[in-house]
Amino acid sequence: MSKTDTNPFENALEQLDIAWEYLKLEPGVREILRQAKRIVTVSLPVKMDDGSTHVFTGYRVQYNDARGPFKGGIRYHPGVTLDEVKALSAWMTWKCSVADIPFGGAKGGVICDPKKMSQGELERLTRRYAVAISSIIGPDKDIPAPDVYTNAQVMAWILDTYSLIKGHAVPGVVTGKPISLGGSLGRDTATGRGAAFCTREAAEVMKIPLKGATVAVQGYGNAGSNYAIILEEMGAKIVAVSDSQGGIYDRQGLDAKKVLAHKEKGGSVVGYPGAEGVTNEELLQIECDVLCPAALENAITKDLVDGVKAKMIVECANGPTTPEADRVLDAKGVFLVPDILANSGGVIVSYLEWVQNLDRLYWTEEEVNSRLEKKITGAFRGVHEEAKKHGVSMRTGALIVGVGRVADAVRTLGLWP
Ligand code: NAD
Repeated sequence: MSKTDTNPFENALEQLDIAWEYLKLEPGVREILRQAKRIVTVSLPVKMDDGSTHVFTGYRVQYNDARGPFKGGIRYHPGVTLDEVKALSAWMTWKCSVADIPFGGAKGGVICDPKKMSQGELERLTRRYAVAISSIIGPDKDIPAPDVYTNAQVMAWILDTYSLIKGHAVPGVVTGKPISLGGSLGRDTATGRGAAFCTREAAEVMKIPLKGATVAVQGYGNAGSNYAIILEEMGAKIVAVSDSQGGIYDRQGLDAKKVLAHKEKGGSVVGYPGAEGVTNEELLQIECDVLCPAALENAITKDLVDGVKAKMIVECANGPTTPEADRVLDAKGVFLVPDILANSGGVIVSYLEWVQNLDRLYWTEEEVNSRLEKKITGAFRGVHEEAKKHGVSMRTGALIVGVGRVADAVRTLGLWP
């Protein structure tokens, strides 16, 4: 991925300003929405397997809770920065609002390299982080979930640590947890499934038949691999996929499930039999109908955007397109489903998981998937209508809807004292 020095929080603020041009609300509300409500930095001493002590740094940024409790994932990655976590927490706020679920936005991050850590080290780090943020999270306050390089097991450790502190089981403190601990059926595939529903809607708008449509996916983790598998079930042809080690390409179409099995066995999609090797930059510029960046921020930059040939872009990742590249894509007439809409399936099913926990309910996978489909297609159509009304891109349409609802909540709550 061609990383630039682009600061994701600056990008988030630039997007806020774009929405503001159309919303034309009081400047005081804009000022409130430009700041995170609470930023917590914690140092996390952890006993490593070799007996040494390593002090990790972690963050939890609670951006805005005017529409409901804070909600957002936790990322473990060596490249985590406070500005990245702030940007992700702002995007979560607009995302929950676009999806029209009663949550605000937050995000957490720990600077660490989970690939180089043992399970024991990861568990001790996670429990230490959970203790450090325990006073500011909870089912009515702030509900974490998985993000890059965290998973259901990490959520289980947070749930256990938090419940031990409280003295009773609190399943609603995290979402994306294992089914055996109150997780929801359908949560593991929700982000990819939601993005696939958005792709189906976008294909209809673009009058591109989904059957046989060619798709390239950058990042073959939870979001990217489920997206590829579900879209393939809908009739699309997955021609290229990649991960941090590189990509693979087959014009005739890859088998999305077999590629996943290959990655699970060998740690990477690279080396999948019969496919050609491509770099991550090449993958983004492949001839295809749909391009899905599903890895990290700033993947589609101004340096490579001219080479992008896809007719539609569905942003499974958060912030994968820089603002400069975004303007170029818009001018080229590429139909882009923005992150705060395209990947909202994850938080929509997280919301369904939280509702089941609070009401002591268990829904079937069909029930969860059908609620997700209804919610995300409704959000897509609402954003598309807004974009058409103002003659703007889907990104600007989504920001007008997302920021607009939060701004309305902030204004209606008022300021006290
Ligand atoms: P994950 O850890 O399951 O997978 C990440 C994938 O990206 C891995 O295959 C990894 O090898 C690949 N990757 C990492 N660095 C890369 C690079 N430089 N180039 C190409 N590939 C690279 O993470 P995930 O949960 O699938 O998240 C992926 C993106 O989707 C993130 O931006 C995340 O914020 C976003 N997202 C995820 C969810 C969710 O529910 N999982 C929800 C909303 C948004």
